[in-house]
Amino acid sequence: MNQAVNGLYRIPCRIGSDKPLYQHVLANGDTVLWIDAGIASTPEQDMFPYWHRLAGEAVAEQTHLLVITHADVDHYGGMAAMRNKLPFLTAMAHIADVPWIADTERIIAERYNMHAADGMGLTPERIAQLKERSGGGGRVDTALSGGETLQLDEAGQWRLIHTPGHTPGHLMLWEENAACAVIGDAALGRGLFNTTGKLVAPPPYYDCAAYRQTIETIRELQPDIVYTSHFPVMEGAAIRRFLNESLDMMRQLDQTLRLLPKCCGYSLGELCLETGSRLGYWPETAWAGLSDPLSAHLQAMFREGAVRVEVENGRRQYYFQ
Ligand SMILES: [Zn+2]
Repeated sequence: MNQAVNGLYRIPCRIGSDKPLYQHVLANGDTVLWIDAGIASTPEQDMFPYWHRLAGEAVAEQTHLLVITHADVDHYGGMAAMRNKLPFLTAMAHIADVPWIADTERIIAERYNMHAADGMGLTPERIAQLKERSGGGGRVDTALSGGETLQLDEAGQWRLIHTPGHTPGHLMLWEENAACAVIGDAALGRGLFNTTGKLVAPPPYYDCAAYRQTIETIRELQPDIVYTSHFPVMEGAAIRRFLNESLDMMRQLDQTLRLLPKCCGYSLGELCLETGSRLGYWPETAWAGLSDPLSAHLQAMFREGAVRVEVENGRRQYYFQ
C-alpha cells in the first residue's frame, strides 16, 4: 500500500536485520515533505531509490522539507545524508528535541545511556552503533513548538501537534479533512515487533503523565487512519484497540510495581526482571528495555511519595512504601 491519502506515501524500510521502519512522505507537485529521515543509511538505501522511481528527473527541482518527529537515531540519523543529496533541505523539529538532534554525545549521555547511574549502562559496542546510526546528528533549521500548519494544497493541511512522552519534543502530524494521523512513535502499544511479527521490546516511554496525555490527545482527534513508524497501518477499531493497549500497558506496569513485596529494596535491574517475568509479554533478552518505562513510573511514584530512593554502593535502590 503506497498512497492511501492523496499525496501521502509510505516507504517500508528496515533497521539492522529485523526491525521494521516506515518512512512517510507528503508530496504536492513541487513540494516534498519528508516525515523523518531514518537512520544514517536509510536515505540512500530506501528513501532516495523510492523517490527517484516516483519523481524521476523532477527530484532536483522540488523543494524538500523535513519534519523530524523526534530525537531518536532511527528518526533523525539520515538527516546528514539527506542534506548531502538535497543541499537546500529545510529541517524542522520540536524545540525540546533540537539539542539532542544537534549533539550526539548529549543524546547518548541524557537519553540512551540514562540508566548508567542505575548500573545499567550501554556496552561500548551499542554506543558505537548508536553513533553510527545517528549520522552525527546536526543542525535543525527551524525549531517548532506544535500548533503549526503545513499547507500542502491537494496533499492536505497538516497540523503539527506536540505529543510528548516518548521524547519531550515528539510531534505528530494531523490532517483534519482526511481524519488521518502520522504519529511516529507517539504511542507504542505493548511494545515493538520484529519483522516476523514477534513482540521483542517493551514500549519505551519516559514520562508517564505526558505519554498518557498524548494517547488521550490522539484518541480525542478520532482518526480514521493512523500511520506509525514501526507498526502496520491502523484503521477504525484497530486504532482504538491500539490506544487502549498503550494505556493498559501503563496500568499493568504501574500495578506490577505496586504489588511487589515491600520487604526490601530493588535495583532497577531487579525491577526489570520482576516485571518482565511477571507480565510475560516479552522475551527475557528484552527485559532490560523495561528500564525506560519503569524509570518513568518510579519517578511518578517518587513524586507521590509511593517510593523511596537510597543510594547504596553507588547504585540506586528503590523501596516501595
Ligand atoms: Zn522509532
